[in-house]
Amino acid sequence: MKSVRVRFAPSPTGYLHVGGLRTALYNYLFARKNNGKFVLRIEDTDRSRYVEGAVENLTSALKWCGLDFDEGPQVGGKFGPYLQSQRLDIYQKHIQELIVKGDAYYCFCTPARLETLKEEQQKQKLPQAKYDKLCLSLSKSQIENNFSNKIPFVVRLNVRPNQKIIFDDIIRSHVEFDSNNVDDQVLIKSDGYPTYHFANVVDDHLMEISHVIRGEEWLSSTPKHVLLYDSFGWERPVFAHLPLLLNPDRSKLSKRQGDVAVEDYRTKGFFKEALVNFVALLGWNAGDDKEFYLMNELINNFSLERVNKSGAVFDIEKLNWLNAEHLRKKTNNDILLMLKESIQKSEFSNQNYSDEFLLSIIGAMKERVSFVNEFITSCQYFYTAPTEYEQKSIEKNWDSETSNILRKLRDAFASLQNPTKEDFELGLTNVATELNIGKGKLIHPLRLAISGISTGPGVFDIVTILGKEEVIKRIDTALEKIK
Ligand code: GLU
Repeated sequence: MKSVRVRFAPSPTGYLHVGGLRTALYNYLFARKNNGKFVLRIEDTDRSRYVEGAVENLTSALKWCGLDFDEGPQVGGKFGPYLQSQRLDIYQKHIQELIVKGDAYYCFCTPARLETLKEEQQKQKLPQAKYDKLCLSLSKSQIENNFSNKIPFVVRLNVRPNQKIIFDDIIRSHVEFDSNNVDDQVLIKSDGYPTYHFANVVDDHLMEISHVIRGEEWLSSTPKHVLLYDSFGWERPVFAHLPLLLNPDRSKLSKRQGDVAVEDYRTKGFFKEALVNFVALLGWNAGDDKEFYLMNELINNFSLERVNKSGAVFDIEKLNWLNAEHLRKKTNNDILLMLKESIQKSEFSNQNYSDEFLLSIIGAMKERVSFVNEFITSCQYFYTAPTEYEQKSIEKNWDSETSNILRKLRDAFASLQNPTKEDFELGLTNVATELNIGKGKLIHPLRLAISGISTGPGVFDIVTILGKEEVIKRIDTALEKIK
């Protein structure tokens, strides 16, 4: 087998779309699994869509996800330059070859003529507007004449009618197109820049790309590409078109229905491991129901043969779940570093918490949160005393006797010397026995008094983390505030 060389070839639109991440990831996994090379090529030949800083955004998003490329704009490589806008002379040279062969031709039609043509074809209800090959019949001297008169021109692909264009695709197997439905695609635009189709094929060949792995939206472009490979007499790469990404309502994944930029997920506090894991499962599985993967496991298990044809639904709930799973796999010390960063960005940034204190919060909450930030937001009571108490818990757990029994509990806690969790527990059990009441009569009001809410880790965990003095203070405040 030829050595594996794959590429991710984004147009720099300003950010890395999650669909782009999926394409990049599958290319990366395939390259790493097969000891191949992963190339980044920037397809920036559409100058009207140029966005400042887009390449830097793309590469930093890829890097953050752990997808390091072997060749590309910043790392170099022997097939560079890797920015198409720096390869214009290469495309000019290659287009001449096709023109000489008659597989491409100059077209001088004005935009106005093309527009009229399109309108006529729409009136005739043709399935798709196509160029009518008018300029194919221009003589050499007419062409020369147009050149000397500086009439703007493009170069088009000469698609022969009544042919079957056939190619194989690892995911979609045998694919066939009727050449009558393929337009004489513009290959070189009037500004001298190549179109995507032409530059893409020339570069994939010159960069010795063995497998073209990309989104399904490019499947309908592939017949044009195949004609180009054949015309040049170049070996075609192996094609693999990845399934579309869908919203839960099965419409095409759009910006309107949520975040699509990798950067958005990063800002929201998703782990790169979770995002990569999630994106890997958008159209691929190993044939079992395993869902938790780290990058090295993905590399070991990935294969293009196991990529589905049907669209993959982007289910944000699953991403949240995976984030929680990845969080639980991290060590408490790793989480500690991230939590400290989050605290710096929170309202508690001017407080000084000991590592020991934060680690005990992490220990108590790790099974209950999905994001690092939730070690703060879902249990604020660890950082600051409650100022309000959940009304529905008051109604349920606070009756006319509560103040008295809570006062007893407070005194019991006050008499403990350097209490452990077990000491607090025993203290509470003793009060319950003495008053001949169920422990719930104490536990629920205690929780409400010290945390202000009715959910969270075990109440004795909270008590132990807060410490005796703070707990007593909070019980006193609650006794004053809740009547
Ligand atoms: N430049 C195309 C894009 O923006 C590349 C498609 C391909 O991989 O051929 O996705």
